[in-house]
Amino acid sequence: MEEALKAPLSKFSTIKIGGEADRLCQPQNVDELVNLVDHLQETGEPWSIVGGGSNLLISSRGVRGTVIRTAFLKDIKSISAETLEAASGTRLPHLAKYAAQMGLAGLEFAVGIPGTVGGAVIMNAGAHGSCIANVLESALVYDSQAGDIKTIPAPELGFVYRNCNLDPSRHVVVSAKFKLTPGSSEEISAKTQANEDYRWRTQPIGWPNLGSTFKNPLPDKSAGFLLDQSGAKELKIGNAAVSSLHANFVINLGGATSEEVTALLGEMKNSVFNTFEIEMTPEWKTMGDFSDIELAAWKKSTNQNQAI
Ligand SMILES: Cc1cc2nc3c(=O)[nH]c(=O)nc-3n(C[C@H](O)[C@H](O)[C@H](O)COP(=O)(O)OP(=O)(O)OC[C@H]3O[C@@H](n4cnc5c(N)ncnc54)[C@H](O)[C@@H]3O)c2cc1C
Repeated sequence: MEEALKAPLSKFSTIKIGGEADRLCQPQNVDELVNLVDHLQETGEPWSIVGGGSNLLISSRGVRGTVIRTAFLKDIKSISAETLEAASGTRLPHLAKYAAQMGLAGLEFAVGIPGTVGGAVIMNAGAHGSCIANVLESALVYDSQAGDIKTIPAPELGFVYRNCNLDPSRHVVVSAKFKLTPGSSEEISAKTQANEDYRWRTQPIGWPNLGSTFKNPLPDKSAGFLLDQSGAKELKIGNAAVSSLHANFVINLGGATSEEVTALLGEMKNSVFNTFEIEMTPEWKTMGDFSDIELAAWKKSTNQNQAI
């Protein structure tokens, strides 16, 4: 297993923000992952897990204890004519392209989501009208509190919009099985490519970011539309700014801190509330040391600048 002390985490988050982890461990296989979590749980040391870091705001003050990164766990296996099993660190774009080449439909939506299988299960990642819940057969999950590893069928994972009932401070997604639909490899690849092209046209590629910042508050009201209409594209704090291309994206202009980002989230949230009286909740997870003030955007607010 690869191990490092006082490891800078900013390079493992797509927004390029994050202080040091006391210790960073990168297991090379599933046994190392499970044994490590088991050991940390037994000794009572804090631990947290990072996949692609594409939905994770890591504190600039760092993360106490051990951060486990799953990047080396990336095996994909064919289990049957229509089922693929992928280890937790497998990148979704790679899995989507692999499935397309194999002539298996269902994962085309995932090609532009820069996360891993583990993070995608936790987040019920989705795009282009589909999501993980639609294609997941089951997940192999290690429960650090119970100390057991078991296969959980998808219907038992309580999938809802951008969430499921697994708790990343307790459960480790080890691998996942996807039930796909056999079809023409050319057609599936073309659809996958079209989805990828769409991303390049509509997202602020080039600036470090964490994808959509807030969940869509209502099925017919996208967070991006509400932010745009409330003038949030003008907002900027320090080196953290709202993208001028897509109002639901926060970009790091270079050297932004997590404090600047959380303050910006507060302003974005206020701007929508003051215009539409709609409460927004961030899609992102956090990791490491954050104050209650910094976490305010994640709480149901009694808004300070509330519209009357
Ligand atoms: C440019 C861009 C575009 C994006 N587009 C989309 C999109 O279209 N749709 C969408 O849904 N999301 C999108 N995202 C967000 C993000 O890619 C997804 O939420 C993705 O599923 C996160 O996966 P990850 O591996 O990066 O998770 P991370 O950010 O590493 O972690 C997210 C959470 O999952 C936990 N976690 C990670 N791995 C495991 C594991 N093995 N076991 C247990 N817990 C784990 C972490 O502790 C954390 O709580 C986008 C992000 C970016 C930067």
